[in-house]
Amino acid sequence: MTQASSFVYSPQYTLYDFGSTHPFNPRRLLATTSLAESMGLLTSRDIVEPKPASPDDLLLIHQPNYVDMVEQFQEEADVHNPSLLQAAQNYGLATEDNPVFPRMHQAASLAVGGTLTAARMVASGKSLHALNIAGGLHHAQPSSASGFCIYNDAAISIKWLSQHTSWRIAYLDIDAHHGDGVQQAFYDDPNVLTISCHETGQYLFPGTGSVEELGTGKGYGLSLNIPLRPYTEDDSNLECLEAIVPRALEYFQPDLLISQHGCDGHYWDPLTDLLVSTYFYSKISALIHNWAHEYTQGRWIAVGGGGYELLRVVPRAWTLLWANMTDRPLDDDRTIPETWIDQWQPFSTLPLPRHFIDRAEDRPTTPRSFAIAEQNRQTIHHLRQLVPWL
Ligand SMILES: [Zn+2]
Ligand SMILES: [Zn+2]
Repeated sequence: MTQASSFVYSPQYTLYDFGSTHPFNPRRLLATTSLAESMGLLTSRDIVEPKPASPDDLLLIHQPNYVDMVEQFQEEADVHNPSLLQAAQNYGLATEDNPVFPRMHQAASLAVGGTLTAARMVASGKSLHALNIAGGLHHAQPSSASGFCIYNDAAISIKWLSQHTSWRIAYLDIDAHHGDGVQQAFYDDPNVLTISCHETGQYLFPGTGSVEELGTGKGYGLSLNIPLRPYTEDDSNLECLEAIVPRALEYFQPDLLISQHGCDGHYWDPLTDLLVSTYFYSKISALIHNWAHEYTQGRWIAVGGGGYELLRVVPRAWTLLWANMTDRPLDDDRTIPETWIDQWQPFSTLPLPRHFIDRAEDRPTTPRSFAIAEQNRQTIHHLRQLVPWL
């Protein structure tokens, strides 16, 4: 039986944990499911339990020696073993961004397994849409961890889909950081289109994602990047995506859309300089949903990603995404249940917002917003000059 939308989730997702002082904290996943449940939007019938990715799944993207290294960290003693820590640094591990922790291989394999489970649900026709909020680990590289990402769930799932279906796949990444790992995995692939819209790498990790990065060989023109100016706000971010994404999908004719929903571009996020609000995250998830029905027969997999304002932003952004995926959009005046605020306020030093959609009075004012929007239009113009079919 086809279920319209699946919410792929395991309580074990929270084992992907770099420690309490690290910005990537799994509490945001608990707070998100708790918010969706308290709104009556998420019940046990919606939830599909993921299976961990197998070693063969991981090897679709990652090098065996890297997976072996990640697997070394099993016991508490391993994460304090000096020679092991030394060796791990050759793989981007045991660094400030990507510290090691016991059983990190199992935790990261489950995050990948969530996106693969979503892919299998959609590929088999059991589900038309599927969401894995623990996915979106878009920086992971074949032989190294990067930017809090151990294994690259989206890249692995796209590879899996291209082996098990004849589908052409479009990947759209709206995280504030460039989706470099996914772009690189399919840079020469004529059957995968990647689009990343992010804060320009001139100022932000990982530094890549300029309009000139267009792919290579038979994949030339199928890696698209929209680098936004710092302090970009909702309207300009939406304008850029609406200018490029529908045309790209129309041209490429994909069979499935995978979207990455990092919500670290929010004005409260501590790690980036974009200034979008939860209005943007609601609107873009509704647009992506429409694009899936218009261009990919509804086949749509959504994954999470960055988001470091753990309680004030992430739970709202991803509950809005799930609400839109399941055709139950929340209007501008919808408030957060008091029970949820009572439950989570003790974990936040700042007051939790009362509304899903940020209130105008809470938004920062930027006198330069007109000039920034104009600079972003120039970027779109530049991209169109480089890619004539856009
Ligand atoms: Zn739908
Ligand atoms: Zn990010």
